[in-house]
Amino acid sequence: MFYSSTRDQSIKLTASEAVLKGLSDDGGLFIPSEFPKLSVSLDELAGLDYKESAYVVMKGFLDDYTEEELRNCIDRAYDSKFDTEEIAPLVEAEGAYYLELFHGSTIAFKDMALSILPHLLTTAVKKNKSDKEVVILTATSGDTGKAALAGFAGVPGTRIIVFFPKDGVSNVQKLQMVTQKESNTLVVGVDGNFDDCQSEVKAIFTDAELREKMAANGFQFSSANSMNIGRLVPQVAYYVYAYGKLVKGGRIQPGDEINVCVPTGNFGNILAAFFAYKMGLPIKTFICASNDNKVLFDFFKTGVYDKNREFILTDSPSMDILISSNLERLIYLSCGSDAEKNKALMSDLSKNGKYEVSDDMKDFMKSFVGEYADWAMASSKIKKLYENTGYVIDTHTAVAAASYDKYVEETGDKTVTVIASTASPFKFSRSVLTAIDPKYAEGEDFELIDVLTKTANVDIPNAIEEIRTAPVVHKTTCSRAEMKDIVLKNMGL
Ligand SMILES: *Cc1c(COP(=O)(O)O)cnc(C)c1O
Repeated sequence: MFYSSTRDQSIKLTASEAVLKGLSDDGGLFIPSEFPKLSVSLDELAGLDYKESAYVVMKGFLDDYTEEELRNCIDRAYDSKFDTEEIAPLVEAEGAYYLELFHGSTIAFKDMALSILPHLLTTAVKKNKSDKEVVILTATSGDTGKAALAGFAGVPGTRIIVFFPKDGVSNVQKLQMVTQKESNTLVVGVDGNFDDCQSEVKAIFTDAELREKMAANGFQFSSANSMNIGRLVPQVAYYVYAYGKLVKGGRIQPGDEINVCVPTGNFGNILAAFFAYKMGLPIKTFICASNDNKVLFDFFKTGVYDKNREFILTDSPSMDILISSNLERLIYLSCGSDAEKNKALMSDLSKNGKYEVSDDMKDFMKSFVGEYADWAMASSKIKKLYENTGYVIDTHTAVAAASYDKYVEETGDKTVTVIASTASPFKFSRSVLTAIDPKYAEGEDFELIDVLTKTANVDIPNAIEEIRTAPVVHKTTCSRAEMKDIVLKNMGL
């Protein structure tokens, strides 16, 4: 098995080379030449803990890592940084199963992959005898930034630069990032939205002249965004784990199909579920939930991807995205792994902001269903779920939960469904509390956190306590046009 680019079939890299590179020089994403099958039966999944589930998934995709290397990475990632031994608890509420992916050190699901990516990457550096310092370039819609900073802070041989939309993240998200202390970190607020940050990062990545200059000076780029296969693969694990949990709890029989419902932005999390399906996990429907930026909802309805529309800032900022990078991997698979075809569509996207897929490609994607929920729907879901069960969900998870309700109403499909719960409500205390009672709209951030701990009957996570009094270290802001200079300056070039 090898990894090729979604835009150039002639590229053949090992898994560790793909992890190290992050993004292909042609701007394409790395994709495995074949999908490994689960090496244990669906019965046996019930007996696996999180680390074992992760191993079963990762050894399939990362096949040039030795067992010892992988187990070592897994042990160092999924440890006491998580505030629950289960790592990803599955909680039933009103008939749906919430897969809580926010128990890591930065309380968003990005920790599931970013607590292991630094280990996978430093292992790849050793395996490939690379002598270059790795510069992690990251665009964030709010949560990847902090999770990547936490993962790479102080890691020898790496430095990390994070660009975030300066007016497009929550206060807590921003504070989490700009208080990062370690000297190998740089955090920059960009005057623009997430798409601006991500597009410019991609442009810097694929700048051949810059790449040569960096190599001559002992540097190389890699990516902590879900464009990196080393981020996507660890995310496959929790779907496999959740299925095992459902079997173990007697909620399904081994072999039964489940649905998954995922609050989606860059299409990484839901694509990981699709990879789990390709490994043999019985998933019937992939419910792709969007907020008001519902470009994916329209795409799955019509086959036309069209980003020419207003970019809307919402209460689920990590999903405020109009260019979903990882969709490119599904597009590539849907046209029969035809890199030329995919490349033509991606070129339409960058030239005209849109493309249309063929009927065959649409047919390939028919297990994906687009849904969306605006803030009125999502906030009333938060309120209703809290009033009926006492369970409090975050604003992103609420978009998924409200979308799921719509899906059930439209289809009557009662298949057991796992909803990806992607962030702790503490990251978005104001929006969450305001959904429950409008009187909280005004309060001060940390006061609201103290209210939420009582409301939700959940302890305040460490990640929040940490930033209460932490000094702001990173104050740089810039325009999109200045991003490249900032990167160069950081390397002293
Ligand atoms: C990143 C993020 C999402 C979107 O995930 P994608 O993999 O980009 O689709 C949803 N919710 C939260 C809380 C996030 O941080």
